[in-house]
Amino acid sequence: MKNVNAYAAKSNDADLEPFDIERREILADDVKIEIDYCGVCHSDIHQVRNDWGNSKYPVVPGHEIVGRVTEVGKDVKNYKKGDLVGVGCMVDSCQECDSCKEDLEQYCENGMVATYNGKDEHLGGHTFGGYSEMIVVKEKFVLKVPENLDTKAVAPLLCAGITTWSPLRQWNVKKGDKVGVVGLGGLGHMGVKFAHALGAHVVMITTSPGKAEDAKRLGADAVLISKNEEDMKKHQGTFDFILNTVPVGHDTNPYIGLLKRDATMTLVGAIDEVDIHGGGLVMGRKRLAGSLIGGIKETQEMLDFCGEHNIVSDIEMIDIQNINEAYERVVNSDVKYRFVIDMKSIKN
Ligand SMILES: [Zn+2]
Ligand SMILES: [Zn+2]
Repeated sequence: MKNVNAYAAKSNDADLEPFDIERREILADDVKIEIDYCGVCHSDIHQVRNDWGNSKYPVVPGHEIVGRVTEVGKDVKNYKKGDLVGVGCMVDSCQECDSCKEDLEQYCENGMVATYNGKDEHLGGHTFGGYSEMIVVKEKFVLKVPENLDTKAVAPLLCAGITTWSPLRQWNVKKGDKVGVVGLGGLGHMGVKFAHALGAHVVMITTSPGKAEDAKRLGADAVLISKNEEDMKKHQGTFDFILNTVPVGHDTNPYIGLLKRDATMTLVGAIDEVDIHGGGLVMGRKRLAGSLIGGIKETQEMLDFCGEHNIVSDIEMIDIQNINEAYERVVNSDVKYRFVIDMKSIKN
């Protein structure tokens, strides 16, 4: 299908602008989705601006997609026309390696296919994401969205949600645990909501006292200002788990100090150099871990949990025509907590 409306950046210093793309005709195991909403992830901006040096232009970003099924291939079993569905950060993987067999497609040893800027095996070139009116995705990578949730606020669950959910589950956060969430942005605000819903005692760890009130509204039981040395000392060695959402390299040592013996801190935002002193880990048999989004099975579990507990993201809606201003605001951390594009606006 040619001439599908989308928004693209044609180079690393260009604004996003209207651009026509092609989507493949549906195959036997494909689902065709009319996109209603697409979240704006910080990764979208990194890719548009080639911050990671691997962007392919034109970039059509967007991997927090929610919409309705309009057509299914003949072998599709779990979806039918009209179903409310989501697509996250991946649209394919090899299905054969150990990671894929263990439902961890995000770590596919042959490389998962990213929703945008991935290798497009069908049309050649690279994949185009959710800043568009429709998308065709293999059934295996399509998720069911609970109908009881506010649909537009579901979109960010597909990346920000699963990114924070997966480590909380991996490290078995449970009722009564003392859990720290470092950083209150798109990721952090979901971490607070999930940890709270799992029954943990949630402490928001932030540099900005101004965020205290909002953190509590989102479900934090307490706020720890990381610049306050005395308060940091009081909390030394008391945390069962820390979810670290800081998006850039930083000194992790003060946070490692907050962990109990055998406890873990997981990084989900920083993918560059962090400072870590071996002694901080050795002395308490502590662990510093990382985590990338989540597998398809786990993403579905997260969405189902959100349906049961009525959890969605806190969002600000925009029309696609305002995407470039929205990017500026994301870069300045001026959004509570995620922009979501009303994708119907692309037809204006
Ligand atoms: Zn993302
Ligand atoms: Zn694989």
